[in-house]
Amino acid sequence: MNGYGKRVLALLAALILAVSVSGARAAGEEPVTGIYTYEDLLALAEAPSGRYRLMDNIDMAGRAWTPVDFSGELDGNGCALLNLEVETLGAGTATTYDGNYKTYDTHFAGLFGTLTDARVFNLELCNVKVKVEADTPCFIGSIAGYSEHSLIEGCRVTGILELSAHDRMFGVGGIVGYGSGSISDTEAQVTLICTDTDAETRDEQFMGGAYAAGHLDLTGCTVDIDGYDSDHGYVHNGGLVGMYILYPRGLDYEGTITDNTVTGQITFFEDNTNRRAYCDGFIGEIMNWTFINGRNRNTFTRNEVFDYSVDLRPHMCDTPDLTRTVTEPGCDTFGYTTFQCKTCGYTYTDSYTLFQHKITKWVTVKAPTETETGVEEGKCDRCGAVEARELEKLPPTPPVSETPAPTPSPAEEPAPARIGALPILAVGAVAALAVGGLAVFGRKKKR
Ligand SMILES: [Zn+2]
Ligand SMILES: [Zn+2]
Repeated sequence: MNGYGKRVLALLAALILAVSVSGARAAGEEPVTGIYTYEDLLALAEAPSGRYRLMDNIDMAGRAWTPVDFSGELDGNGCALLNLEVETLGAGTATTYDGNYKTYDTHFAGLFGTLTDARVFNLELCNVKVKVEADTPCFIGSIAGYSEHSLIEGCRVTGILELSAHDRMFGVGGIVGYGSGSISDTEAQVTLICTDTDAETRDEQFMGGAYAAGHLDLTGCTVDIDGYDSDHGYVHNGGLVGMYILYPRGLDYEGTITDNTVTGQITFFEDNTNRRAYCDGFIGEIMNWTFINGRNRNTFTRNEVFDYSVDLRPHMCDTPDLTRTVTEPGCDTFGYTTFQCKTCGYTYTDSYTLFQHKITKWVTVKAPTETETGVEEGKCDRCGAVEARELEKLPPTPPVSETPAPTPSPAEEPAPARIGALPILAVGAVAALAVGGLAVFGRKKKR
């Protein structure tokens, strides 16, 4: 198919999508709001019980995010949020339970702080970074810190989640921190770090590749966990779940944990004379056995250490020396930067970039004027896709000056002693030209 045909098809597809989004109102259901930009995504907090559909990949790098307390529906539509960074706790709190059914008023962080009767599906979080220091009971997860009767389906998560805390109850989960509901057909490739900053208090600490504690059902999930847990209390670590607990106590519910695959490891210490040191490839501590459990596979390493003086992290090099290698994005693959430590070999990726066609030649198909924007088109060297982008309006023609600038007389020329200032003037002139050039020729990329 030629580029024009593809473009017509793409336009048709966009039209069909637009119609389906605006016309998605089923009987008794709210219409679905399309999310195209970071600004659109902020609307989730304004109407957190609405229905939303992600319509494009969004790079969240450098964009502040406060965890949203959500009770609506988010269809990720196969699109990704790249480089989401969360450093604050959300406003919503909930009661969590430890293994003795002691309760804690707990705070949460993630894309969502709390999910209540919500549904999140077909969403990718690529290179999510949740990094929280908490002085209250706290759980963090990538998609949500807390889930209550919520469904997470067909999602994919890669990234790093890091919690430093010193209260009596806290934990880190690869997908969800704490709660109830279900997670199905979801992939998580996560580095989890949980550090207890208080050596005196005997706390309850939880880590799980899927979730840290609670009784969410897990079916068909694939978890690759690289965990680091430093605790001066009681750890509950699992490749899938830190602690499986039905709550409130006496709840009659038969859960399901089937067809999940776990790879990876958790390195941890439990600085406690009364050690239990729960750490298992599937579930660290099982408080309730009323669940269907089967066809789960793991290749998991429990790596307990007994030096309690140094907090555990993935990169513990004394003399880190990082090289960086940039992988450019492809037509349908994200770009990223690989960092490798020359001293110890530790490697990680960061700074993901959106898909990009390789277009080296642009042709103006509609020239801009002073009153109307123009359009130019280019064809991708790799895949042949044709993209169009807008050309900004031309700047208004400046009025002809009546009085020409005076020419300096020889007497007014700079004295030799002032020559030192000339390069600065020259740089200023070039900068002014450059700004002018941008104003005239600058192109706004448009999808
Ligand atoms: Zn190193
Ligand atoms: Zn391409």
